[in-house]
Amino acid sequence: MQSNDEPAIGGSGGMGVEFRHLLDGSPVANYICDAEGRLTYFNKAAIELWGRTPILGKEYWCGSWKILYEDGTPMPLEDTPISRVLKKGVEEEKSEIRIECPNGAYKYLLVFPKPLFDRNGKLEGVHCTLVDITEQKRDHIKKETLSAIVQSSDDAIISKNLQGVIASWNRGAQEIFGYSEDETVGRSITMLIPEERLNEEDVILDKIKRGIKIDHFETIRKHKSGRDIPVSITVSPVKDSGGNIVGASKVARDITARIESQAAMKKYIRNLETLNTVGKSISENLNVEGILQRVTDATTSLTGAAFGAFFYNNSDDKGSTFQLFTLSGAPREIFDHMAMPRHTDLFLPTFRDRKVVRIDDVTKHGDFGKNAPYKGMPKGHFSVVSYLAIPVISKNGAVIGGLLYGHPEAGKFTAEHELLVINIAAQAAVSLDNSKLFEQVKSLSEKKDEFIALASHELKTPLTTIKGYLQVLSKKKADKVSQLFLDKSLCQVDKLNTLVEDLLNMSRIESGQLNFNLEVFDIREMLKEIVETFSYSSQSHRVTGTLWNDSVIIEGDKQRIEQAILNLMTNAIKYSPKADEIFVDLEVVGENMVVKVRDMGIGLTEEQRRQLFTRFYRAEDTQGISGLGLGLYLTKQIIDRHGGSIEVASEYGMGSEFSLILPLAVQKLKKVKAI
Ligand code: ADP
Repeated sequence: MQSNDEPAIGGSGGMGVEFRHLLDGSPVANYICDAEGRLTYFNKAAIELWGRTPILGKEYWCGSWKILYEDGTPMPLEDTPISRVLKKGVEEEKSEIRIECPNGAYKYLLVFPKPLFDRNGKLEGVHCTLVDITEQKRDHIKKETLSAIVQSSDDAIISKNLQGVIASWNRGAQEIFGYSEDETVGRSITMLIPEERLNEEDVILDKIKRGIKIDHFETIRKHKSGRDIPVSITVSPVKDSGGNIVGASKVARDITARIESQAAMKKYIRNLETLNTVGKSISENLNVEGILQRVTDATTSLTGAAFGAFFYNNSDDKGSTFQLFTLSGAPREIFDHMAMPRHTDLFLPTFRDRKVVRIDDVTKHGDFGKNAPYKGMPKGHFSVVSYLAIPVISKNGAVIGGLLYGHPEAGKFTAEHELLVINIAAQAAVSLDNSKLFEQVKSLSEKKDEFIALASHELKTPLTTIKGYLQVLSKKKADKVSQLFLDKSLCQVDKLNTLVEDLLNMSRIESGQLNFNLEVFDIREMLKEIVETFSYSSQSHRVTGTLWNDSVIIEGDKQRIEQAILNLMTNAIKYSPKADEIFVDLEVVGENMVVKVRDMGIGLTEEQRRQLFTRFYRAEDTQGISGLGLGLYLTKQIIDRHGGSIEVASEYGMGSEFSLILPLAVQKLKKVKAI
């Protein structure tokens, strides 16, 4: 081992002392081998380079720990430059090798081997100089790699000076912008910028000069062909070794695909939203025309058609005619003087065979122009080149009609449009089926209402006559039995009269003909009389009235309000067959009066309470108690129309309390004044 003080320099290599001193002090690695290749000298710089101190006279050819070819494969000793020179005795050009040091570091060296001859010209050994070129080599590799990366990048990587003149142009730039390197280097970057965006370059250069990087700026640049390309660009300042900004590097990425996919996504979402809203609105709509207009409008806009229409299928045994029902995108007058589409080869597949027909250019369709009377498109008809027809099929398989779309340009309708309309047509068909049912039910119900109005009206006249005769008879002297029967008959006629009157009132309400005669009156007086009358007439129940100790003035139709209260009291008695008392209270609460009618009867379940005010509703446990289920419906209508409300509190099996709430007349007057 060499000591640290004494550099690990070994041997004389057969040199003169002066020459040796020269080499010892040299910063360049030198070593010498004898004619057999044995190491006879190396200097301090060589030790540093090898990262080790070889053993003089024992090691051959070189002091490196491992010698490699440039690509990293091991180099056999006999192939080292020195052994070659020794073998041939001829000087060699410098050569490049790679070595590995014991600490694992790699180095690149230039080797200059020189044969040494004695005075007689006999080969004595080799003197070798090693130059460490690792730094340069790495720089070179780095540059080559960078350049390869730049060249292989799909992004455009362009450098330019501060005047915007292009200095370099990679393969990606060529791909994106269509220009070759020769066509761009030396020219201004503005050649890529659309005219209306030229000011962008000034802004970019201004920022670059101030050392500011521009990150992912999305804009439009021009292709050689003139086509616009959406790009995302990043521009960074380029500095020289002194740190001065001398130019800019620009990376531009073509974002056409992204923009297109975003647009497609947006379109997809918009379509979904439309589908959703159309679906919802047609399922909520029970009117045929409303459904079809909504469907026609939405699908015409979705398909981008110039016009869209729904034709109703009027097929019968004699043939098919199609009747225009709804239209979108064109005035209806166009069709006014035109015959409706007929069973031509173009329409029949849709209306008869339930087929979707999509044609890019209908004028090239085999059947086009052959059918009389128009032989093609009728005069005045807007031009239809793209054609799309989709059947709307009912649940029972019948074609309700067809949705037809047209556009004056060819190839306007896609498979996507077709699918969208098919979906909507299917939803529309369900709604149309439902609406048919609804309309049937509605017309039945209207017929029923008409019948009730007519029947009750017709019943009213004979009833009044019968009551008149009975009253005349009851005034005549008669035996006890006859008198009893007369009284009972009168009582039944009264009941019948009330029922008929209820039916009539219901019809009036339904047809909006229930009129009120408004007057201001004291409801306390009215209630007093009612309670009195009931106390006399009711044989089964006692009526207890607790009335407000002052007059309670309201404004309303006296007769109808009385009818409402009588309904509640009659019910209280009817539906408490096992009890013998009902209660009537009148009080003033704030700006309202409240009439409460309470019984201890059969009571109501929550479900029954919910349905109480629907017409003809009767709870399931009312068998044996007569009624039509109209009293509460009428009561509520009357109270509602007086600006009041009705509340029910009840416990099943325990009794019920109905409260009528009406505004006091003062309040009403105040409100009128305020208005
Ligand atoms: P009607 O008495 O002719 O059946 P209403 O419209 O007056 O018709 O009442 C509707 C239904 O409400 C009754 O059939 C009955 O089931 C229930 N109802 C009304 N009042 C009471 C009450 N006080 N207690 C229990 N159930 C009642």
